[in-house]
Amino acid sequence: MPFYEYRCADCGHEFEAMQKMSDEPLKDCPECGKPALVKLISAAGFQLKGGGWYETDFKGSGKSSSSDKAPAEGSGCCGGSCACQ
Ligand SMILES: [Zn+2]
Repeated sequence: MPFYEYRCADCGHEFEAMQKMSDEPLKDCPECGKPALVKLISAAGFQLKGGGWYETDFKGSGKSSSSDKAPAEGSGCCGGSCACQ
């Protein structure tokens, strides 16, 4: 079962969730409770030929600017599940 990374556009909380590809994307942030979750593209996600989920999900993240919410150094690009660090 693949892992998906989510980030809350409201409070910045990041976490991974293990979901089936057929599951609905998560919306509600477990930290602040707002429906502001954005699914991140991860290395694992790229290997899944799931078909366009990122296109729809990322359109809701209009206010996010990648410059001020870059991943903290040391967290790696994939949460440590690969050797990219
Ligand atoms: Zn939140």
